[in-house]
Amino acid sequence: MTARKRVVVVGGGYAGLTAARRMLKRGRDLEVTVVNPHGYMTYQPLLPEVAAGTVQPSHVVVPLRSAVPGARVLSAALTSMDPEAKVAVATAADGTAHRLEYDELVLAVGAVTRILPVPGLVEHAIGFRTVEEALHLGNRVLARIELAASSTSPEVRRRALTFVVVGAGYAGVEALAELQDMARRTLHRYPGLSIEDTRWVLVEAGPRILGQLPERLATYAAANLIGRGVEVRTATTVSEVEPDRVTLGTGEVIPADTVVWTAGVVANPVLRRLGLPCDPAGRVVTDASLRVLPGVWALGDCAAVPDLVTGGLCPPTAQHAVRQAVRVADNIRGREREYRHRDAGAVASLGLRKGVAELYGVPLRGVLAWWVHRLYHGSRLPCARRRLLVNLVWLLGSRGRDPVALHALESPRTPLREAHAAQRAS
Ligand SMILES: Cc1cc2nc3c(=O)[nH]c(=O)nc-3n(C[C@H](O)[C@H](O)[C@H](O)COP(=O)(O)OP(=O)(O)OC[C@H]3O[C@@H](n4cnc5c(N)ncnc54)[C@H](O)[C@@H]3O)c2cc1C
Repeated sequence: MTARKRVVVVGGGYAGLTAARRMLKRGRDLEVTVVNPHGYMTYQPLLPEVAAGTVQPSHVVVPLRSAVPGARVLSAALTSMDPEAKVAVATAADGTAHRLEYDELVLAVGAVTRILPVPGLVEHAIGFRTVEEALHLGNRVLARIELAASSTSPEVRRRALTFVVVGAGYAGVEALAELQDMARRTLHRYPGLSIEDTRWVLVEAGPRILGQLPERLATYAAANLIGRGVEVRTATTVSEVEPDRVTLGTGEVIPADTVVWTAGVVANPVLRRLGLPCDPAGRVVTDASLRVLPGVWALGDCAAVPDLVTGGLCPPTAQHAVRQAVRVADNIRGREREYRHRDAGAVASLGLRKGVAELYGVPLRGVLAWWVHRLYHGSRLPCARRRLLVNLVWLLGSRGRDPVALHALESPRTPLREAHAAQRAS
């Protein structure tokens, strides 16, 4: 019996999961190991809906062990590799180092939030790439509304009801739009408060929002947001974040308890430590077949892949990640071809029943674009059961979560500590 080819897929996100599944779907002659720090992949395009409560958090995370049943799943992070010896080292949370010998290595470690040297940013802002951050953010908006409703101090109310989102790409715009809609739905239940009491500020360093979309659609999206009372500040930077305020590069100080940081992504910093060729943005450079070196492949947000259609590099989108995954899997199986994909377009939600989209060059706006957004993402989740659940909830016309702020979500040990303190005091 011939030994099975050993494939190590590093990263169990959209690209890694799709590549591993594709390799195993085509036969069990490969021994596939998926290395990921945690046991699930996250479908990031639906995180804004998770924050707004129109999609359940458990429906956008897919357990790797059930999604790729034929693979070995290792909860660890790639820390080093030796391409000559064909060995990768992955380190588990407790420090255990796993030495993984491979015939083919697939790098799909994605990107991380870009951190700029802004004082207070890491301490006081919140990112928007994980399901935990999305859940926290939705809960925080509800908790701030509750605080404002029970306070008589105008300063406390103003700070609590001001939400600043930095970065106006998909993540920032969709998160702000969905959260504002959720706040509007919620505020109906708070006599004495209305959406006019809230303040939403979208800060973008570039000249316009939604730089990934054609200008006329981005202009429509900006007009929609401004019409809803959102303050859109383009060509503006943030110079400091404090627990109760944000200072902009213009010198303006915005009193706010909540700052969301979505100012772009950079390739996973681990890549620079691997000794592989990287571009100035830190992405691993591949050829048109997604190969880095003999036996090493890279794809998704962590890779600089030539775009044979436009002539540049493929943008870091889910659309490219999933198609590159199919290509890598087939290349490893010996049906090697260059990666070539014509972008089908882009969709962005602007909250309930509002959106912008471009499909094969056709611009769409409003409710039609929003339906395209739901149909597209409702069909792309990489798990049939979750697709069904998400679509069912949407079809049943869920208007989102009940407006309840779960106070102990951020610090679940607090109730036990409070019970202890109260009993000692009595
Ligand atoms: C809020 C949000 C909304 C988005 N909306 C859209 C959209 O509407 N349309 C679109 O096309 N794209 C969208 N994107 C982008 C899209 O989600 C990404 O392009 C896509 O997820 C890239 O897939 P990936 O597998 O390369 O990276 P990821 O899905 O990020 O996966 C990387 C994986 O690698 C793991 N990893 C990291 N370091 C290591 C290590 N050292 N060792 C092992 N594993 C490691 C990570 O834990 C993760 O599981 C959105 C992104 C966000 C954050």
